[in-house]
Amino acid sequence: MNCTRDIAAHIDGYDTESMPVAAAQAFIAKLVEPVGESERVPLKSALGRVLASDIVSPIDVPAHDNSAMDGYALRSGDLAADVPNRLPVAGKTLAGQPFEGNVRAGACVRIMTGAVMPPGLDTVVPQELVQLADDGTVTLPAHVVRAGDNRRLAGEDLRCGEAALQAGRRLRPADLGLIASLGFPDVPVVRPLRVAFFSTGNELRSVGQSLEPGCLYDSNRYTLWGMLTRLGVEPIDMGIVHDNAASLEAALRQATECADAVITSGGVSVGEADHTRAVMEKLGEVLFWKLAMRPGRPLAVGHIESGGHRAILFGLPGNPVAVMVTFYAFVRNALLAMSGATASALPMLRAASTTAIRKRPGRTEYQRGIVSRRADGRWQVALTGSQGSGILRSMSLGNGLIVLPHDQGNVQAGEDVDVLPFDGLV
Ligand code: AMP
Ligand code: MG
Repeated sequence: MNCTRDIAAHIDGYDTESMPVAAAQAFIAKLVEPVGESERVPLKSALGRVLASDIVSPIDVPAHDNSAMDGYALRSGDLAADVPNRLPVAGKTLAGQPFEGNVRAGACVRIMTGAVMPPGLDTVVPQELVQLADDGTVTLPAHVVRAGDNRRLAGEDLRCGEAALQAGRRLRPADLGLIASLGFPDVPVVRPLRVAFFSTGNELRSVGQSLEPGCLYDSNRYTLWGMLTRLGVEPIDMGIVHDNAASLEAALRQATECADAVITSGGVSVGEADHTRAVMEKLGEVLFWKLAMRPGRPLAVGHIESGGHRAILFGLPGNPVAVMVTFYAFVRNALLAMSGATASALPMLRAASTTAIRKRPGRTEYQRGIVSRRADGRWQVALTGSQGSGILRSMSLGNGLIVLPHDQGNVQAGEDVDVLPFDGLV
């Protein structure tokens, strides 16, 4: 079991009052452990799931040398150099219908794409390069093929015994096809992570309820549900929990008993933190940080236990944009690591900012941007407008997060900035 104090001692820049994003990410990476349980699922159910063990090829792919073109298969050694060659056609072979028998010296075989190369023949001349005569011979000009042309070799895609895919891979469409090409109808994957989440706040109402003065609809459970679903985990929506110790404790216990990870939103900011802290600390080892980032300053992280079950806890801020940004900055990678996924950095774009951006060094900022391609082919990014952490529409309008690193100061108009595109993030 990873003890939070031991981990903290090994993290550069660890500072609960102003936690650099990189330090928080490094801490969380050490805190989480893979669930390590797997199951077999049919191939079509495996999209987005994490491979639990290597997929080793039981066959050569392709299984035989075969033709890459429609044309005529021949022995390159039969061709006379520097002159046109006329060859009789000994027969025909199609994909799935191999040529029977031997091809006599100096003859060729009509062959279609994907058909197995007849024994002894090593080269295919594409049909458009030859002339077919009425007597059933083909004539090919000098120098139109070299030995081995247009022949796919057995095993050139994958060799028998070779690992086609490694454990830890999140399966993509090409991977499903690759696994199918090896003949496997099902695949070993890590069991889905169960992630329970709820919103805290007496001011929150659920959709469908009436809205009294001073109240607002709970949006965080919907963004969280969306982000969790796209990550491929099993979301468990526990609704809205009132801001009192008894309700919070009961909800956290129930969540811990049914889930691997628990995500709460709200109730960790100054003013509310004391009471949340008392409940969370009662159930386990939970740290309360002030992050050096914007949006998303408060964050609670740790483990809680109940009824012999243990779960990792993320207490996210309440503001709707802060919830999404802290999820992407911290929770996403943690859940992927718990799912056994091999870590991979998300691709970033470099885009020229269309305007100046005010930025204070000493914190990481995630601004919402709209990236587009300029006429000269370069990427540019414009802010979505007001960047308040309560303005959820900025996440909806934007198609990427502008990531301004910890030490960065003000950005000039036209200066390149890092952008994390939303597509591909989940
Ligand atoms: P808190 O961290 O609980 O103080 O919440 C910060 C701000 O986010 C407050 O204005 C809350 O009303 C708002 N907020 C908290 N939870 C939610 C939620 N689930 N949906 C929408 N807004 C929320
Ligand atoms: Mg609150």
